[in-house]
Amino acid sequence: MEPQTLIDYTRSLDCIHCGLCLRTCPTYQLTGAEPSSPRGRIHLMRAVAEGDIEADAAFREEMDFCLLCRHCESVCPSGVEFGALMEHTRAGLAPQTAIGRLARKLGFKLLESRTQLRLVAAALRLLQVTRLARLIAPLLGERGSALTKLPAVGPSSERRPLPEESPAEGAEPVALLEGCVMPELLGEVNRATLRVLNDAGHSVSVPSSQPTCCGSLQAHNGELERARALAKETIAAFEESDGVPIVTNSAGCGSHMKEYPNLFAEEPEWRERAERFSARVRDLSEVLSPRERSSASSAAVQEPITYDDPCHLCHGQGVREEPRALLDATGLERVELSESESCCGSAGIYSALRPKDAERILEGKLEALRSSGARTLVTANPGCQLQWQAGIQEHGMEVEVLHLAELLDRAQPDVS
Ligand code: SF4
Ligand code: SF4
Repeated sequence: MEPQTLIDYTRSLDCIHCGLCLRTCPTYQLTGAEPSSPRGRIHLMRAVAEGDIEADAAFREEMDFCLLCRHCESVCPSGVEFGALMEHTRAGLAPQTAIGRLARKLGFKLLESRTQLRLVAAALRLLQVTRLARLIAPLLGERGSALTKLPAVGPSSERRPLPEESPAEGAEPVALLEGCVMPELLGEVNRATLRVLNDAGHSVSVPSSQPTCCGSLQAHNGELERARALAKETIAAFEESDGVPIVTNSAGCGSHMKEYPNLFAEEPEWRERAERFSARVRDLSEVLSPRERSSASSAAVQEPITYDDPCHLCHGQGVREEPRALLDATGLERVELSESESCCGSAGIYSALRPKDAERILEGKLEALRSSGARTLVTANPGCQLQWQAGIQEHGMEVEVLHLAELLDRAQPDVS
């Protein structure tokens, strides 16, 4: 690809080199090296676009090293849209080896097929209950560790699809995004989401025509064409329930779906449909009202609790106060987690692609969790939930990780 098309040069010019983003960047914190910082990466992008350097292996490495956490965007005084810049660059950087290209293609194909995801979940459960997973993992090298870190896959009853309609009365109806890995690895989170929405009076519809994946992971990892196709399918599926909010319990999906219009600069008709769709997208915490859950307290939750901001909720969507308000309304003791807005290392499929870097990034977060004294950690994104669960288990910490929906579900007044 030509350097001029590989880089979104116009966007890169927004950077004024102030360096305010450096200390927030997790990869810069690890290396202390300018090329691993947001400013450094933008400098590299510009150098490629201006023909001063090649988009060589060193350049690719710095682009791949980035978590796309967008923490840099939150502190940037110049409004640099770093996420969009990086997605554009990654779209032009295909994996260099045939095996890399094949692995990426197969990985994304898997995410787009409910049938295949179900089969993989069933196979994984078999490996886990027979303890074969622990025997196979060392044979897979560095990435084999991901196999042992995955949560215990539940029985098929926990992985069954959500009902298409769940009526309730008292609040406006909503439509729910099921997500790709959520039904297979965290099916109980989806069921808890349904219960808390129903409990708050929201009738919930789950369109059966929604694709398995919203395209977020594809967009973040350079597969913009597939991301566009999946966005179109998602938009069309939710147009059946036109007018009602579209709720997601996944910060990554929510952030991406709120930015769908950016995918359709060249397709005005789809851009218009995407704008209507995106205006309806809400994180779960934006739909529930703290007052609806006021009198709750629960022995089912170990206190104190703490909340870790998923990057794509705080930096991607600017949602920070709503989850905290819901948690505080439960009456449970909550402590703040220091650096709660810094990335946990999950970052979509980053923890699978670069497990060592993801572990190093999580180390600092685990230290902050220890210092907080919290016994329950709450998050609002499936990837973060899995990353925290794996790290906490590996370090032998006695902290339970819950999705916000699970905590609110347990903190129901009628749950003992
Ligand atoms: S997105 Fe995150 S990892 Fe990437 S440059 Fe910005 S702060 Fe650093
Ligand atoms: S804070 Fe924004 S303008 Fe300043 S160096 Fe970072 S990206 Fe550039």
